[in-house]
Amino acid sequence: MKRETVIVLDFGGQYNQLVARRVRECNVYCEIYSYKTDIEKIKAMNPKGIILTGGPNSCFETDSPTYSKELFELGIPVLGLCYGAQLMMHLLGGKVEKAPIREYGKIEVQVDTNSALFKNVSPTTICWMSHNDYISNAALDFSTTAHTADCPVAAAENVNKNLYAIQFHPEVLHTVEGTKILSNFVMNVCGCAGDWIMSSFVEDSIKAIREKVGSGKVLCALSGGVDSSVAAVLLSKAVGEQLTCVFVDHGLLRKNEGDEVEEVFGPNGSYDLNFIRVNAQERFYEKLAAIEEPERKRKIIGEEFIRVFEEEAKKIGTVDFLVQGTIYPDVVESGLGGESAVIKSHHNVGGLPDFVDFKEIIEPLRDLFKDEVRKAGLELGIPENLVFRQPFPGPGLGIRIIGDVTAEKVEMVQEADAIYREEIANAGLDRSIGQYFAALTNMRSVGVMGDERTYDYAIALRAVNTVDFMTAEAAQIPWDVLGKVTSRIVNEVKHVNRVLYDCTGKPPGTIEFE
Ligand code: GLN
Repeated sequence: MKRETVIVLDFGGQYNQLVARRVRECNVYCEIYSYKTDIEKIKAMNPKGIILTGGPNSCFETDSPTYSKELFELGIPVLGLCYGAQLMMHLLGGKVEKAPIREYGKIEVQVDTNSALFKNVSPTTICWMSHNDYISNAALDFSTTAHTADCPVAAAENVNKNLYAIQFHPEVLHTVEGTKILSNFVMNVCGCAGDWIMSSFVEDSIKAIREKVGSGKVLCALSGGVDSSVAAVLLSKAVGEQLTCVFVDHGLLRKNEGDEVEEVFGPNGSYDLNFIRVNAQERFYEKLAAIEEPERKRKIIGEEFIRVFEEEAKKIGTVDFLVQGTIYPDVVESGLGGESAVIKSHHNVGGLPDFVDFKEIIEPLRDLFKDEVRKAGLELGIPENLVFRQPFPGPGLGIRIIGDVTAEKVEMVQEADAIYREEIANAGLDRSIGQYFAALTNMRSVGVMGDERTYDYAIALRAVNTVDFMTAEAAQIPWDVLGKVTSRIVNEVKHVNRVLYDCTGKPPGTIEFE
């Protein structure tokens, strides 16, 4: 059965993933595609609706992203957001130009509540704006359904053709009634049923996996993180004994983590996953010796992972399928969905060597956002403490050690991180901070200890608050907590003489250091 889908056509906006998330919150499945996607492909997908995102360009300039006008003739409802709205007007004969007054931030918007889009929205509502250009004239056959003090056309629509354009960003939470507006589009205009729910996702996935796998053997890469744990349990429900889970201790895990994972998923734990632990620490350290470039490090770790799995697979006979816990943001950030630049390659995606020794890779979570993976985990009966675990990157501490990785450095960052996490928990902050960890900078500096000069490393502490990990702010940790952490790290961790706190948000920083 084909799933009801809404498509987001990405014009390079910052919030493309948020648009898709909000649509999914309406229980409607949604995928992101680049604006370069061929119209024939879109027709073949036969979506219930199409949303055009914002973008940095001006649609009236020659080289700006554009789309075939045919898109508006398919009989499929289209909603343009910001750049998408401007482009729709521009292509259909309206006028878009530099705005005399640009709007940025929260703006009061007057909306026409007779519009299907603004049903049950307050007549005056706060919306988030971010534009330099504006629609000075809506296209012919469009009526204006919203305006602000400085923006004559904040929304326009052609009801007969199901075309809607809005200048503001309903996907951003600062737009107070944004979710309602998107839901109005998806449910009322597109007529979606909203049957994308986790229980059916889990059920459908199990069925699909069974069909695909048949009597084949499956090997799963288990890291103990949320994604791979959910993937593993999903697979074990689907194919039971045919599944073997391999946990590679690559020597880049947090302190004691290897043993903790073994406790939960190993033979004495509560799951039956045919769990095998491989202690491959030395191999990884050897491969990583003297490598400083972050992307190289990620690739090496990813590749070595696959090699270790191949070897394990050979030991257990032929293996037909390899499972990976890739999730949707990995796919998008790796530049495979949508138009956003390649920010970093995820070791789950795109980092695979060309000659993998398996018939096929299964990525059962490839379509899910993080919060959806958690929901699926709960649906599968995985305990909450596991489902709500702190995110930990696949390449592990390898990318929390800036520059080259050595066993000594791994130990430094493990110890510092353990102290940091312990003190955050002691202060009762472990539930309120989104994500926090220690990293080892590649910087050495002069200090004094016991009247002697030291020349040692600096640890960086990171803590961020974030709703969706797409944007984040540095957390305001009380000074006394930071002070305690600092003095413990400097005292207890050898070769560290300085502790720094990272105040950078995302953007412009990323949450991880490499
Ligand atoms: N670049 C366009 C403008 O400045 C659209 C901006 C946007 O999509 N956020 O108006």
